[in-house]
Amino acid sequence: LPTLQRNRSPAMEPKKKIAVMTSGGDSPGMNGVVRAVVRMAIHMNCDVFAVYEGYEGLVRGGDQIKKMDWHDVRGWLSEGGTLIGTARCMAFYERPGRLTAAKNMVLNGIDALIICGGDGSLTGADKFRAEWPSLLEELVANGELAKDQITPYKHLNIVGIVGSIDNDLSGTDATVGCYSALSRICEMVDYIEATASSHSRAFVIEVMGRHCGWLALLAGVATGADFVFIPERPQEHDWREDMSVVVNRHRQMGKRKTIVIVAEGARDKDGNKISPEEIRDLLSDKTEGGLGLDTRITTLGHVQRGGTAVAYDRVLATLQGVEAVRAVLEATPETETCFIAMNENKIVRKPLMKAVQETKEVAHAVDSKDFEKAMSLRDTEFADQYNSYITTTNVLIEDHKLQEKNRMKIGFINVGAPAGGMNAAVRAAVAYCLSRGHEPMAIHNGFAGFARHHDDKPLGSVRPFDWLEVDGWASKGGSEIGTNRELPEESGMELIANLIEQHGFDALFIVGGFEAFHAISQLRKARDNYPSLCIPICLLPATISNNVPGTEYSLGSDTCLNELVNYCDKIKQSASATRRRVFVIETQGGRCGYVATLSGLSVGASAVYIPEEGISLEMLNADVNHLKDVFRKDRGQSRAGRLILVNEKASKVYDAKLIASIIREEAHDRFESRESIPGHVQQGGVPSPMDRCRAVRLAIKCIQHLEGYGRNAHNRVKKDPNSTSVIGIQGSEVVFSPMKMLEEQGTDWPNRRPKTAHWLAMREVVDVLGGRPDYPRPE
Ligand code: ATP
Repeated sequence: LPTLQRNRSPAMEPKKKIAVMTSGGDSPGMNGVVRAVVRMAIHMNCDVFAVYEGYEGLVRGGDQIKKMDWHDVRGWLSEGGTLIGTARCMAFYERPGRLTAAKNMVLNGIDALIICGGDGSLTGADKFRAEWPSLLEELVANGELAKDQITPYKHLNIVGIVGSIDNDLSGTDATVGCYSALSRICEMVDYIEATASSHSRAFVIEVMGRHCGWLALLAGVATGADFVFIPERPQEHDWREDMSVVVNRHRQMGKRKTIVIVAEGARDKDGNKISPEEIRDLLSDKTEGGLGLDTRITTLGHVQRGGTAVAYDRVLATLQGVEAVRAVLEATPETETCFIAMNENKIVRKPLMKAVQETKEVAHAVDSKDFEKAMSLRDTEFADQYNSYITTTNVLIEDHKLQEKNRMKIGFINVGAPAGGMNAAVRAAVAYCLSRGHEPMAIHNGFAGFARHHDDKPLGSVRPFDWLEVDGWASKGGSEIGTNRELPEESGMELIANLIEQHGFDALFIVGGFEAFHAISQLRKARDNYPSLCIPICLLPATISNNVPGTEYSLGSDTCLNELVNYCDKIKQSASATRRRVFVIETQGGRCGYVATLSGLSVGASAVYIPEEGISLEMLNADVNHLKDVFRKDRGQSRAGRLILVNEKASKVYDAKLIASIIREEAHDRFESRESIPGHVQQGGVPSPMDRCRAVRLAIKCIQHLEGYGRNAHNRVKKDPNSTSVIGIQGSEVVFSPMKMLEEQGTDWPNRRPKTAHWLAMREVVDVLGGRPDYPRPE
């Protein structure tokens, strides 16, 4: 994110007037968009309006178009649905409706519109923009507006933000609301699994998605469902036979539960709809050769839309809202209408109509049974996830196995503190290994466990994986194979090298945080002394602190953010129920302020203190004065609590307790302050679907990377810098970075974090949207 400095001088030009609207089906996070647009627009010296009830409000005008104040959107981040309402508006499909809408815009002086909605809403918006000059001419021609009235509004500026639970718009990896809906689905599936397993039942779960199978597919990946039906990719053969084979195989393996997830728009290869009832009938068929399972159908319906947004959607909504205002202010009459997209981890502006067109093409492709095209029009992540899904459910099929000579023995090891998604990563990597004929071996309890060899375990705690057991790990928190912080040098490098040799490992797959990174660094440096270490080694970063060099995202960090967001929402609520209170919440994260900053962004914190900046008396003074000012101006309309997030290592002196005491002392009873420390709650119980799905996708990529070296690759490995590497998401790409380069150029070793913090600019967004005053910051 570029800097958010105010670039508009009110003295020089009239204030720009921007309207924001939510339209189409509601989705969690829409309120976050409105809050960000309202506050960012005010910050940039613009007037900002909310259009209530979608296009309906634009057509009706009057009090449906309301000027918004800074305080009008307080607390909106934690509210579900959309507080400015949404509707399907028939009138807007017709020109007369759009004509009235244009008149209402001009009457309010609005010449820029930020719309958060699905592809229908965005299509309507683009049509409106294209017609705008002719609509104004018509309004003048029929005498509804005077010529000089329309002069300042020659061009309508539109920016789209995709708000949809389906994640169905081409060109963006995520739409605002999709991860909240996915979380809801996975939560339900997790519940259902318990009862399914108890009774040895089968469940057919129908999820939303008429033309888009994203929710169904990712729910399948995240929960390890047995079978998934999506609109874009029907089974090539008879789906009945395909499903029966898979379910039968899983039952024969010993699985006690069967979960089938079906998108509402699922079809067979001939384009016929596949209904949950048909699937149930097949699963419960008691005739000879039938599966004969006790099968139930659960249709999730509108619970998928409900509830407050997950952390990811709040961050997405906020950053996209901020970017949309920037896009409005930078647009010229020649600028193509854009929408704000997310590619992997990068917010980008993209041409709106191209994306809408491609989205429509997917639906056409599905309708005309051109499924290859439908899949190709989805983004790469979708295709990757589809392949991941197929890999993890077709483990025992012989077809994909490599030739004997290419099969590898791969050691799996978890290092550091547990993080959400570690088990999902191990499960997916094991599945991939088995499907290719490799031999995956579990090394229990990190390097410490590896090195601890008793008489009865002369080769350390190493054993082959049992697929039936591992298959149940998709949604489990913690680390099933055990994790430990000990580094190889502490365990004894010679011993580790000998054990690797004795086991005949051809590669190591390591999942963990900064300790894991450090461990690989030690192994790499010891290669000259111990030839057995010349095997490919790959790290999949997993730590709630998100402080591993080489990636902008670590497994577990999303789970942690969700835990913190839930925690902060509850605390905020408790404050509003009692008195005016400031909570100072201490977050984990080591010397990396990522978790504090992103949770601050997700809950609308008043301030965030991070180790990258430290805490000075000047900062505390400014923030205390700001709080005093806020509470002085607040005449009781808002009793909601304020939150300050402070990373555990932000300062050696000012910890959460002391900061809360300082605030309390300075508040002179006008408000109060408490510290609150969520502690290990942040490591999460059930991992978030994002952590689980990314775990699956990245883990499979890691094994594919290791597989590229083949067996006995010692000489080749020695010369190849990528033979010890970290997989990471960097900007819009998934990349493997060589350890040596990261160690030498990318790591701030004393602070155990990457040299550059990709997220640092987000701290400024927290400040701007929290209304924090400007003051000099430490270098
Ligand atoms: P969802 O993803 O929930 O379906 P959506 O934005 O696609 O959201 P729609 O019902 O298709 O939902 O569109 C919302 C509104 O946008 C419509 O009620 C209508 O007012 C307007 N709209 C949609 N398509 C057009 C169009 N082609 N021309 C003009 N207005 C349109």
